[in-house]
Amino acid sequence: MSKVLVIGAGGVGSVAVHKMAMNPDIFTEITLASRRRSKCDAIAASVKQRTGVTIQTAELDADDIEATAALIDAVKPELVVNLALPYQDLAIMEACLKAGANYLDTANYEPRDEAKFEYSWQWAYQERFREAGLMAVLGCGFDPGATSVFTTYARKHLLDRIDTLDILDCNGGDHGHPFATNFNPEINLREVTAPSRHWENGQWVEGPALSHKQAFDFAGVGERNMYLMYHEELESLARFYPEIRRIRFWMTFGDSYLKHLEVLGNVGMTRIDPVKFQGVDIIPLQFLKALLPEPSSLGAVTRGKTNIGVIATGQKDGSDKTVYIYNVCDHEEAYAETGNQAISYTTGVPAMIGAALMLTGAWRGAGVFNMEQLDPDPFMAQMNRQGLPWQVQDLPAPLAF
Ligand code: NDP
Repeated sequence: MSKVLVIGAGGVGSVAVHKMAMNPDIFTEITLASRRRSKCDAIAASVKQRTGVTIQTAELDADDIEATAALIDAVKPELVVNLALPYQDLAIMEACLKAGANYLDTANYEPRDEAKFEYSWQWAYQERFREAGLMAVLGCGFDPGATSVFTTYARKHLLDRIDTLDILDCNGGDHGHPFATNFNPEINLREVTAPSRHWENGQWVEGPALSHKQAFDFAGVGERNMYLMYHEELESLARFYPEIRRIRFWMTFGDSYLKHLEVLGNVGMTRIDPVKFQGVDIIPLQFLKALLPEPSSLGAVTRGKTNIGVIATGQKDGSDKTVYIYNVCDHEEAYAETGNQAISYTTGVPAMIGAALMLTGAWRGAGVFNMEQLDPDPFMAQMNRQGLPWQVQDLPAPLAF
């Protein structure tokens, strides 16, 4: 019997729960809880229709530690999979410690009032999880998540040493809207409007947001412009792979998206500090979120593919070598299978795989773990089986930029 409690009924939660139901030998009992029960019930109906599996649902404010611990006590899951928002991470970790459940998430904790994207708060839980004999796995989506697993796999099997690492995240999908975000707009816009930062020779190098552009030809998508950005796995990669001299993260954006973002930024709509409006405090970014299409509504209209991977340069048996590991995911195929587009799919499937590895004991431990610390082999094997097949290519030369 492996009981799991999933918190968060957005696109990622929906994919994870569908894929769990498709693996009933591992996930024997699934409960989905979120702020609005109606969203959980809609996902439960889709899961029933697509897989025949019945899942339980519950309403929960996961900011409330006592309420979350009480739900964990009632459901008695071995594992809580946190697919709510990064704001809830610490409250859910506290509730897991209180009620004695293992923990997994896909994004690091964020304070509401400042975009930080750092692991310090969650790494501080190391001793408490270890002492409780519980396992917390952090950042088990695609990026962070699979990108760190690709790196760990490259270091284990393909390279004796990694000198440089580039993470390339391309969404070649088109949803037909002039401006929309593919996952939670608040988190997404915080991420892309933050200054760029990469790791080089033991220190962080900062630059203005979205100022460093590079064209790249992505398999399955074609040539796209990608931009140097900060992304949270850079912190864990730099920590667990001190040998890597330079680590960078690149994400593609279309011209229309950037044009809108620039205007919204210039007029103050991406601010995350409160602004008085008609006597009421509003946060412009939260107001903007209310105007934008719900990411979950984009699934039905998105065409095209994503391509996310890592390029690692280093040495193998005394010779220079460059390897590229990537996955191509099709928006329409992801939608046909789970009712969600590829961004949610590429996050929800790794979350389900991480959960499966914890429940089956393939990943075991007490304390707080990042993906770099865990065996990549069973995860990579499951990616091939669960809808995210990957390719390895030897590149003739390192990137020229
Ligand atoms: P959504 O906004 O679509 O879903 C979040 C869900 O959490 C919603 O159902 C929301 O409820 C629920 N929720 C919010 N606050 C609470 C609360 N206090 N208590 C209970 N439930 C709550 O986001 P996504 O599904 O797109 O993303 C989910 C997570 O995945 C995010 O943390 C995101 O950062 C992360 N992510 C990670 C990626 C990776 O590759 N590692 C990539 C993409 C996303 P309601 O519906 O009522 O608003």
